[in-house]
Amino acid sequence: MNDLNIDIVERETKVILPEKLVFGKIYTDHIFEVDYDEELGGWYNPTIKNFENINLSPAAMVFHYGQSIFEGLKAYKQDNGRVALFRPEKNVERLNRSAKRMCIPEIDPDFVLKAMLELVRIDKDWIPTRPGHSLYIRPVMFASEPLLGVRSAVNFKLIIMLSPVGPYYPEGFKPVPIYATDKYARAVRKGIGEAKTAGNYAASLMGQHEAKKEGYSQVLWLDAIEQKYLEEVGAMNIFVRFKNEVTTPMLTGSILPGITRMSVLQILKDWGYNTTERMISLQEVIDAYKTGDLIEMFGTGTAAVISSVSKLKFNDQLLQFSETEAGELGTKLYEELAGIQYGRVEDKHNWMTYID
Ligand SMILES: *Cc1c(COP(=O)(O)O)cnc(C)c1O
Repeated sequence: MNDLNIDIVERETKVILPEKLVFGKIYTDHIFEVDYDEELGGWYNPTIKNFENINLSPAAMVFHYGQSIFEGLKAYKQDNGRVALFRPEKNVERLNRSAKRMCIPEIDPDFVLKAMLELVRIDKDWIPTRPGHSLYIRPVMFASEPLLGVRSAVNFKLIIMLSPVGPYYPEGFKPVPIYATDKYARAVRKGIGEAKTAGNYAASLMGQHEAKKEGYSQVLWLDAIEQKYLEEVGAMNIFVRFKNEVTTPMLTGSILPGITRMSVLQILKDWGYNTTERMISLQEVIDAYKTGDLIEMFGTGTAAVISSVSKLKFNDQLLQFSETEAGELGTKLYEELAGIQYGRVEDKHNWMTYID
């Protein structure tokens, strides 16, 4: 691949961000874009340019057959003014794993990482500095070839865009109500659940909509085959803390392997917790709740980092945790991870990548 073209237009007036940032609604001045052509032999013309609409044929295969993957990570302006990204090499690795599953050509991970860091460097004045704020980084890769026939495309585009975001819970770290359902399934083993791909979200919207109507903020998805085992929650992985064990569903192929999940598992091991990855049935969780062995539950993901669970509903069963106080371990983990991200806690594992 040739070198990165940079085609930057400076803005004359500085953008003043609103007090309340709606997640993903405002984008910075520039995007990174690179195209793929099978006949040209690969990815070509990588460019950082002004944020603008893209031109695609109505027959672009992404619209018809869903060959599309994405990533999500954040850059933080730390207390000392330095700009740092949380484990970006893991997102690039996962981008390529998702690509492989979706028949999208892989891309040189070092080059993508370099382009991402350069894009963040160029737009770093957009990173909000208020508490809990950050710059969300969204790579998206999709089939751009125009064709109504069904097969894997031969032309693709990768775009990286940036969006300044506020804290996920503006009123502070508050527990969220979740709702398990066996009415729908998000993903099935051997399907595309472990790829960060558009279709998994499409499959989840109806369940999500019904959960919201019932007053719950997210769906706890169960395995699609027996509808018995915990999988994950919306765009988060789920952790269950029993009296003598902190556990999370093992990666069976239908669960998205979260980078926050991976980091939480590492921290728990560092802290000496008995940590496992295994199949966890909803019945086991309900039984432990009844005997007092269930201490807390929390979700992990880039957007909120940690989300403590206030209650869990499944049919006529209701597992009630505190509605006002986040769980003890969830809070400790949040402080540790956010501390590393904002540079207040020692980064023992070298998870942060600095842009300058
Ligand atoms: C992105 C995502 C997660 C969380 O992954 P992180 O890397 O921790 O942000 C969990 N589940 C789904 C379905 C996701 O798309």
